[in-house]
Amino acid sequence: MSARFDAIVIGSGAGGAAAAWRLCQRGCRVLVLEAGPWFDPDKDYGLDKPDWEARSFPVKPGSAGRHRYGEMQQLDPQWDDLRSWHHETGRLVLGDRRAVRIGYSHVRGVGGSTLHYVGEAHRLNPHSMKLQSEHGVGADWPFDYAELEPFYLEAERLIGVAGPSAVGDRWRSQPYPLPAHPVSRASRTLGAAASSLGLSWSPNPRATLSQAYDGRPPCNYCGACVRGCPRRDKGSADQTFIRHALQSGQCEVRARSTVLDLLHGEQRVIRGVRYVDEKGRHHFEHARMVIVAAGAIETPRLLLANRSALAPQGIGNDHGQVGQHFMETLSWTSVAMHPQAQGSYMGLPADAICWDFNRPDAIADVVGGARFYSATLDADLMGPVAYATRLIDGWGAQHKQRLRRSFGHALAVGAIGESLPHPRSFIDLHPSDRDEHGMPLARIHSHVDDMACRRLRFMAKTCRDLLKAAGCADLRMEMGTYDDFASTHVFGTCRSGVSARDSVCNAQNQIHGWNNLLLCDGSTFSSTGGGESPSLSIQALALRAVDRFLQAG
Ligand SMILES: Cc1cc2nc3c(=O)[nH]c(=O)nc-3n(C[C@H](O)[C@H](O)[C@H](O)COP(=O)(O)OP(=O)(O)OC[C@H]3O[C@@H](n4cnc5c(N)ncnc54)[C@H](O)[C@@H]3O)c2cc1C
Ligand code: SF4
Repeated sequence: MSARFDAIVIGSGAGGAAAAWRLCQRGCRVLVLEAGPWFDPDKDYGLDKPDWEARSFPVKPGSAGRHRYGEMQQLDPQWDDLRSWHHETGRLVLGDRRAVRIGYSHVRGVGGSTLHYVGEAHRLNPHSMKLQSEHGVGADWPFDYAELEPFYLEAERLIGVAGPSAVGDRWRSQPYPLPAHPVSRASRTLGAAASSLGLSWSPNPRATLSQAYDGRPPCNYCGACVRGCPRRDKGSADQTFIRHALQSGQCEVRARSTVLDLLHGEQRVIRGVRYVDEKGRHHFEHARMVIVAAGAIETPRLLLANRSALAPQGIGNDHGQVGQHFMETLSWTSVAMHPQAQGSYMGLPADAICWDFNRPDAIADVVGGARFYSATLDADLMGPVAYATRLIDGWGAQHKQRLRRSFGHALAVGAIGESLPHPRSFIDLHPSDRDEHGMPLARIHSHVDDMACRRLRFMAKTCRDLLKAAGCADLRMEMGTYDDFASTHVFGTCRSGVSARDSVCNAQNQIHGWNNLLLCDGSTFSSTGGGESPSLSIQALALRAVDRFLQAG
């Protein structure tokens, strides 16, 4: 069978886009099949429109996936201080079970979930890559930070990451391509609070341009990047890796093209894929390598759904590992009002960060660290409508007066912590519910254990301490993962490792036993780090995986 493409990449998010770009750079002809649509920043995003606050990230045909959830965990009164609450309405999650209030909020589209990500661009903490051998929990990565460092540099250069010179544990062989962004007034107030508590508070490395770069303008600090960046300065994968892949002339992207089958013969060699386009027509494409980059939920779904005589439990699943070790986002946000105006609706979101507790041994009584950051965007308090509906009480003239007096006073501190695998956190296929193409839906099972709750308790206390030290007496709301499932960062469901008995892919991201089938997305993470945002690591890993595959010939 003659193949028009050397490689097929399934999914164009953080990992798929980076893999496609690298393949093009290396002279390969690449087909990217993306289930979701294209988004046009000029037409689709509304941050530059007067009614911006009424527009969230747009939903287009094919851009929202469907998922199911297993039975949610029973809540335990010993952790009641970790319940999400609001100053007027009380508990945000009613009843005694965890809830899924927002659900799996990832976008399907060319660029994947980077289209609506905030744009933090973190490297993993080197100390968090050997959790099993050094701390007896989770799993070790099959390589170390030094192996990944050159690929981090390349990804940062392509994106135009802006970051500070001091980077703590994450040593760098070269500076960031762009200088750090200025820190906003609200973050400076939090920075003074951090220093009064003896904590550090530094500019957060961001995939957002601090200067014009690569034909894109610098950020204008309009501030609500999760709604889609109309200026294209946010380094979403469509504006960076995919754009350059297309410019190479080596890449074709087919949007609204959902892969259903990974095709193989009698050997464990993938020959190509079957996919369905937006009109429901089925197509076959062949290539000598296939990269699955459908994200940490959809990648295991695709592998589990592809059963055959050679792979009776699904591809890569001889040892029942596909879908296991699911790690979600362990997060906390505290919001309070400051007596003075802070202009906290202005500036780059998550512009500053405290890494002091990020190492796996940094928090007493638990393994796994956390980081703290300015989080007005996480609390969705970027405009007057949010204040009027969620922060300010009263009616009529009195309400308006209070709104005028309070706008810009809200401060929010967020924390994200290490998420460790747990036998009750995994992805499987729903036994009966299917999508429009007849493929079983992914079912998400999530469990937060006692160690995670202890870590969360430390995170909550530190967020409150920071707000108090900043001069806020008045907590208004708090949200956390203990009672509300959070999917912002998802990992681990096809983790990389040395043995097929406890991992799905090897150190080169090849599925054990299926050498021309690579995984390039969040599913391959062996551990999550102490709360780092994952996309930059997913991209560095993808560049490395492609290079190692091509070098092996
Ligand atoms: C609100 C929000 C804010 C975030 N902020 C940050 C941040 O600041 N920094 C950071 O690093 N990360 C952030 N993240 C997380 C980040 O977006 C993800 O970690 C990252 O996009 C994951 O990359 P991926 O390659 O694993 O998958 P994705 O980016 O999700 O891409 C997977 C792609 O595969 C496609 N696909 C799925 N199934 C198929 C199929 N069968 N056929 C064809 N295509 C398919 C999907 O449509 C999707 O486009 C944020 C996430 C959210 C939701
Ligand atoms: S703050 Fe900057 S990166 Fe975010 S949407 Fe606005 S212009 Fe884009």
